Amino acid sequence: MTYKIAIIGSGPSAFYAAQALFKSDHKIVVDMFEKLPTPFGLLRGGVAPDHQQMKTVSKAYEKIASDENFRFFGNVEIGKDITLPDLKKYYNSVILAIGAETDRKMNIPGENLDGSQTATEFVAWYNGQPKYQDYTFNLSGENAIVIGQGNVAVDVTRILAKPIEELEKTDITDNAIQKLNHSKIKNIYMIGRRGPVQAAFTELELKELGNIKGVNLIIHDDLDLSNNDKEEIKASTKARKNIAQLTEFKSKPLVKENQKNIHIMFYSSPVEILGNSKIEKIKFEKNRLDGDAGKQKARPSGEFFELDCDILLRSIGYHGVPFKGLPFDDRNGIIPNNKGQVINIDKSPVKDIFVTGWIKRGPSGVIGTNRSDSIETVATCLDSIVNSKIELDKDILDVLNESKIQYLTYKDKKKVNPEKN
Ligand code: NAP
Repeated sequence: MTYKIAIIGSGPSAFYAAQALFKSDHKIVVDMFEKLPTPFGLLRGGVAPDHQQMKTVSKAYEKIASDENFRFFGNVEIGKDITLPDLKKYYNSVILAIGAETDRKMNIPGENLDGSQTATEFVAWYNGQPKYQDYTFNLSGENAIVIGQGNVAVDVTRILAKPIEELEKTDITDNAIQKLNHSKIKNIYMIGRRGPVQAAFTELELKELGNIKGVNLIIHDDLDLSNNDKEEIKASTKARKNIAQLTEFKSKPLVKENQKNIHIMFYSSPVEILGNSKIEKIKFEKNRLDGDAGKQKARPSGEFFELDCDILLRSIGYHGVPFKGLPFDDRNGIIPNNKGQVINIDKSPVKDIFVTGWIKRGPSGVIGTNRSDSIETVATCLDSIVNSKIELDKDILDVLNESKIQYLTYKDKKKVNPEKN
């Protein structure tokens, strides 16, 4: 018996799900649906253009896509072009690998002032995502502030700081090169609400920030560790490596001739974005940490300061969005599930519907994390597949053609974006 499975989304978790399905003992055909014209999700639209090495994983995805039982339908939005219940009629199971499509909100006054944007918009813009190509970013002032200290914050900080000759060697868009070439930004502040031990970035990414030609890296805080911090670094290799790297950077003398400065500041939360029609300053409150080791939270201290700001990039994490007709855990931005099986509020399973990747576990981990995540989901899916039924014995191609949906196949992606294939 051949089982038909639809995967919605085409990022890393989607491809790892397809791979796990093909490796199973069952005969399986996979149709992958993507609302954009081209596949690879955040691998294409999220990974920094100067991190080409990371994108080589797409070669493995190409191999999966070459399986004779694999079809790709780009430009097809499930939920809009075809509803989920309609799609389900043609498949034994549906796996949603739709990622976390929006950003967390800071919920402070002035968040929507002109000049306050999300880091993910900036990333989507310089990576050439079609929807973002008309976005504008004010690079005409001297001060950029990035809120958050995850690897996305590090990526946008680095792109703002890097010399244009370095960026030109990457696959960043020509449009972005043109605008960044005229950038007047001199100071880029990357600001975290907690301390250096709790910073979300990883050592390799941090290291790059300290090694950009012509750029000073200034660590504004002391790196004194509390007893709780010391306990935390014992338990976390990442924190230990970050502290060692920050300590090394802090001891480096500044170079007067350098054109740009990256400022890393800890223990500071934005409380208000100030300006009239556009952003001018950000008001911060200093924090102290409170709570047991491993669970330390930022608490306001009553001490405030302000920084001039021409462009703000909010980089405080992604957040999943609800999918019509399915339950949603708004707090965590995920579709509730048990090992990938979608479940209702009363924990009963939503038959034959599964999730993987960020919509399953939240926006965390590196590309490879999705592999084990999808293997788990596929195992759950295959456990129940023998009891699943297809309602209509018709191929989705007929449905797409009858509905005149202008889908793109895997081969078409080369025509859409030849230089990126
Ligand atoms: P992230 O790693 O979750 O970092 C979010 C940052 O925002 C943290 O510093 C967090 O601080 C801060 N934050 C959250 N809410 C805040 C608030 N209300 N006010 C101030 N700060 C706030 O998210 P991300 O940077 O978007 O990255 C998402 C995932 O993609 C991560 O797993 C990341 O490693 C991965 N990624 C990896 C790479 C790479 O490997 N090179 C590149 C890009 C992304 P708290 O810790 O205090 O919450």
